[in-house]
Amino acid sequence: MKSREPAEPPRLDYLIRAAAAHSMAGATYRAVGLSGPRIAAVSTDPDGLDDLAGQDTTIVDAGDLILLPAFADSHEHLMEASRNTLKVPVDRARSVAEFAAMVSAAARATAPGAWVETSVGWHESNLVENRLPTLAELDAAAPDHPVLARRGGHLAVVNSAALRAAGIEADTSDPAGGRIGRRHDGSRDGVLEGAAVYQVAAFAPAPSRADLAQALATGSAAYAAWGVGTIREAMINLEEFLAYQEAWEQRFLHVRVRPLIRVGSELSTDDAITFISGLGARSGFGDDRLRLWGLKFVLDGGAEGAALEQPYASDPSYSGHLNWDPADLTRVCVEAVRRGWRIGTHAAGDRAFRTLIDVYEDVVAQVGQLPPWTLVVEHGLLSDPQQRARAVRGGFGTTVQHPLLWNMGSQMLVTWGPERTRQVNPLDEWLAAGADLAAGTDLVRPFNPMTGIWGMVTRGTKTAGVQGPEHAIDVAAALRLYTMGTAALNGETDRLGSIAPGKLADLVAYSRDPMTADVDDLPDLRPTFTIVDGVPVHDPERRLAR
Ligand SMILES: [Zn+2]
Repeated sequence: MKSREPAEPPRLDYLIRAAAAHSMAGATYRAVGLSGPRIAAVSTDPDGLDDLAGQDTTIVDAGDLILLPAFADSHEHLMEASRNTLKVPVDRARSVAEFAAMVSAAARATAPGAWVETSVGWHESNLVENRLPTLAELDAAAPDHPVLARRGGHLAVVNSAALRAAGIEADTSDPAGGRIGRRHDGSRDGVLEGAAVYQVAAFAPAPSRADLAQALATGSAAYAAWGVGTIREAMINLEEFLAYQEAWEQRFLHVRVRPLIRVGSELSTDDAITFISGLGARSGFGDDRLRLWGLKFVLDGGAEGAALEQPYASDPSYSGHLNWDPADLTRVCVEAVRRGWRIGTHAAGDRAFRTLIDVYEDVVAQVGQLPPWTLVVEHGLLSDPQQRARAVRGGFGTTVQHPLLWNMGSQMLVTWGPERTRQVNPLDEWLAAGADLAAGTDLVRPFNPMTGIWGMVTRGTKTAGVQGPEHAIDVAAALRLYTMGTAALNGETDRLGSIAPGKLADLVAYSRDPMTADVDDLPDLRPTFTIVDGVPVHDPERRLAR
């Protein structure tokens, strides 16, 4: 019998000697060797992998750098953010006048009657007036063009031409799960919330698939430059999925993407089930670059429409809205799970959270115990300890995004009031209860993950000061949620989330160690380089040049 040859030592494409490589699974290395798309070897000795280097190995002497696994965003809208690069960039406006001037300039460059759409990545807290542009201001800026200024996923401001184009008259009633804003005299004020946004947006022509694929190239590169390696794409439709496939074919995706397909609350239960059974695929389809995560349901609104147990601080007659009847949602989820789908459901308010746990418990009662991260709560901004305990018992993980509090904290102080705002996503209590959590952004624009880490560690916000400092967690825990946490959410802990031999080589390098740096310096950290799938995707200093 022939004796087995010793396994051929891996040929390294890169040998990186670093000040430290934090694995996120407890170990710290000083040398990391990459071979093709994978991490081939690690060593605690900076010279410990030298034997594996050959003629073709690029040796990166990075004794000044700290390596981490690339960030994995549990919930972000890469498609929206990428599409924004095709639209009026009002996220750069710093006043209502600047906002209106950009809309006006875009209208002048657009044929009369054609839609003018803004980026959705803006927020009024970036405008000195700290308010939405008004219908009258948009009318003045573009009297002859329908203007749609979507802000994030749940709110939009439009002008009169857009209301006309969408057939919204003075007596048009609110759609289920949305509100068409009115003034005190009953006339339209141009503000759309929830399903009303989609009702109007449906009339604006969509960009071509080729344009979207190209936009994904630009968009994903911007995220990679911030050290992101994976984005769980929180909501797309089927046409957008085709654009993703096109971007994937053309190797345009600079980050890995795990999309969720939206199942609209405007569908009847039967239509929703027909839609799902007609998809012809299920969770997990794809490859390491582009893999279907699952289905997306939206149960309530955002800061202005979240379903709350107690009325809004800003309006005692209003407690938000639920977009689904719980029994209907249960029925649709049962059918989806039976067809092999994982489910992520947007639940921002505490009433939505409680309702969703009811629904998920019913689903499990009907189909039996499910693997962790099959039924997922998106955001869970407000919850109480009993609800959290039920989520943990049921194995329902939650995606958490400090950047929502960071960005909208000042608005939540008004709509939800100070008590509820400081209780948003109490990560310390979640972790003490043993919850499955995965961190991300949901900002619809590239965002420095280190600002997110700073926020989880300090509870600091953009303009609302520190909210609920008692709910802070430490840097290592925050980094784990943003790497290992999302890998678990995606069912990929065997291949992503930490620095370990055999895992895919997604790495980010910083010139300071986030574990020991002054926490207030974290938002100033910029990646020196980012590697995805063993390939440099961001390397402005050419530290990885071969
Ligand atoms: Zn979202």
